[in-house]
Formats: sequence, structure tokens, C-alpha cells
Amino acid sequence: MAVILDGKALRDKILLNLKKDIDLLTEKPKLSVILVGENPASVLYVNNKKKTAEKLGIISEVIKFPADVEEEILLDKIKELNNDDKVNAILVQLPLPEHINKQKVIDTINPKKDVDCFTSVNYGRLAAGLKPYVYPCTPKGILLLLDEYGIDLDGKNVVVVGRSNLVGKPMSLMALGRNATVTTCHSHTKNLSGITKTADVLISAVGEVLIEENMVRENSVVVDVGIFRDENGKVRGDVEFNDVENVVSYISPVPGGVGPMTIASLMLNTYELYMVQKSEVHSDLK
Ligand code: NAP
Repeated sequence: MAVILDGKALRDKILLNLKKDIDLLTEKPKLSVILVGENPASVLYVNNKKKTAEKLGIISEVIKFPADVEEEILLDKIKELNNDDKVNAILVQLPLPEHINKQKVIDTINPKKDVDCFTSVNYGRLAAGLKPYVYPCTPKGILLLLDEYGIDLDGKNVVVVGRSNLVGKPMSLMALGRNATVTTCHSHTKNLSGITKTADVLISAVGEVLIEENMVRENSVVVDVGIFRDENGKVRGDVEFNDVENVVSYISPVPGGVGPMTIASLMLNTYELYMVQKSEVHSDLK
């Protein structure tokens, strides 16, 4: 039986410590989230982020726009937030409606307030092996979870399934930064199971049931990023958990694995951006 990578427990531990740090501040960090339209999943994510932030003493505002909002209005709002010294972190909840130029909106965020490492500046620094202001929330959460269980990536074969800008690609870059030998797979990958079986650490970020028992290596580590509802409405991940957990040594569950760690990272990033802005010191970024 595999050890469960318990994201909920680690989230609680991280947030408890973070609250102590925030309690010491007279002026509190502020996170502004922009939500366009009423996509139910986005509304749920945004509400969860706001609730968690408020429990920690982070000031959190959700700025809502209708789905048909003009791009210019969004850009103006972001510029206003950039210029507001009280706002430390800005998050634009994705996806955005088709008529909006997503990258233009994201790149309007001041990189110093870019809480999910979305801007070209921060993403480019990550790709160049330099330090962004903060690291992207989901990959950062995954590394924190692996660290907690003493799973070192140095010299390991890490296979990432998925190459999205949100998860797969930054995860691959960050694993490379930890000196792993990284393979990134996607929908055009041939012989996927032949590759996943070489993984010491397999990270799946696809959004459909894909990873079966015969695709993993014995005693390896499996991290399941996927989260979606199956045809019966049950929340589940990419991995056939019940079968795979008999083969591997560590596995993250869905729910309760990567999801809580993403929220924990968002809170840590908000605090880190606050500290950067207060001190205006950043070792690598001048
Ligand atoms: P995405 O943008 O849809 O990307 C999915 C990736 O999976 C793509 O790179 C795609 O390849 C690849 N893929 C699709 N079918 C495949 C197949 N049969 N074999 C190999 N690769 C395949 O999704 P995402 O935003 O990265 O999210 C992925 C999953 O993680 C979703 O379930 C999402 O809800 C979840 N998620 C969870 C968290 C969390 O905190 N737990 C955070 C973010 C996302 P192509 O590039 O070739 O299309």
C-alpha cells in the first residue's frame, strides 16, 4: 500500500504558520481577483480563494465583470490595481471569454503583483532558469508536497503528462530546476505507457482518466493533478487510484492532494509579493 501524499494536512500546516506571520503585520496583504462571467467552476474557485484568504487575515476582493465586458475596461482595471499601493497581488481567473486577448490582459499585470507567475516577464524568467517574483501556484504546491515527504528530484526521471501553460509546462521547468531528467508528454506522444513506466516520479495533469496500473513503475511516486467530475458527478483525477496505489510507494489522492496545495501556494505567494513590495528587495530581480 502506498503512502498518501496528504495535501490537506500540509495545506493546514502551511496556512497555520502563514497566519502567524500575517498576524504580526500591522498592514495586511491584499489579493485582488478579477472574475469575468459566471463559469460555475471559476465562481467556486474564486469563492474558495476568498474564504481561505480571509481566514488568514489577507484582504481579498473579487472584482466581477459580465462575460461581454470590453477588453479595454479590463485593462483599465488592471492598471488601476497596479497603481494601488494597497494591492499586493492580482489574479485574473481563467478562462476568459473568447473575445478577450488573454495574454494582453495578463501582460498588463505588473510582474511584481503577478501572483500566479502568468506574465511573460515572470514566465520568461522561469523558462530562463532565473527567479520569477513568485513561482506558479500548482507546480509550487506539488514541489512543497514532495519536499514534505522527503522526495528529492535530483537525478530522478520525472515524467509530466500535460504541457499546458498553467500546469504541465511550468511543472516540467521547475522539475528541471531541481535537476530532474524530465520528459513532457502530451496528446501527440507515442507509446505513452512506455514513457510513464520509466518515471521515478509521474505527474499527470490531463483532465481525464488516463493513468492505469500497467502504466506506472513499481515503487514510484505518482502525483495526480487532474480534477474533474465523471459521468456520475463524482470528483476524480487522472489516475485509477485504487489499482495504482497497490503498485507505487507514494500517491496523491483526488480530492485532497494537489488541489489544497494550489490554494496554499496562492496564499504564500500573496504574502511573498507583499514582502517584496514592502522591502523592495529582490535578490535576482532589479
Ligand atoms: P489543459 O490545458 O486542458 O491541458 C491538458 C494537457 O493534457 C494538454 O497538454 C494535452 O495535450 C494533454 N493531454 C490530453 N489528452 C491526453 C492524452 N490522451 N495523453 C497525453 N496527454 C494528453 O488542462 P490543465 O489546465 O493543464 O489542467 C489539467 C488538469 O488539471 C485538469 O483536470 C484541471 O482541472 C486540473 N488542474 C488542477 C489543479 C489543482 O490545483 N488541483 C490546478 C490546475 C489544473 P495537448 O497539449 O497536446 O493538447
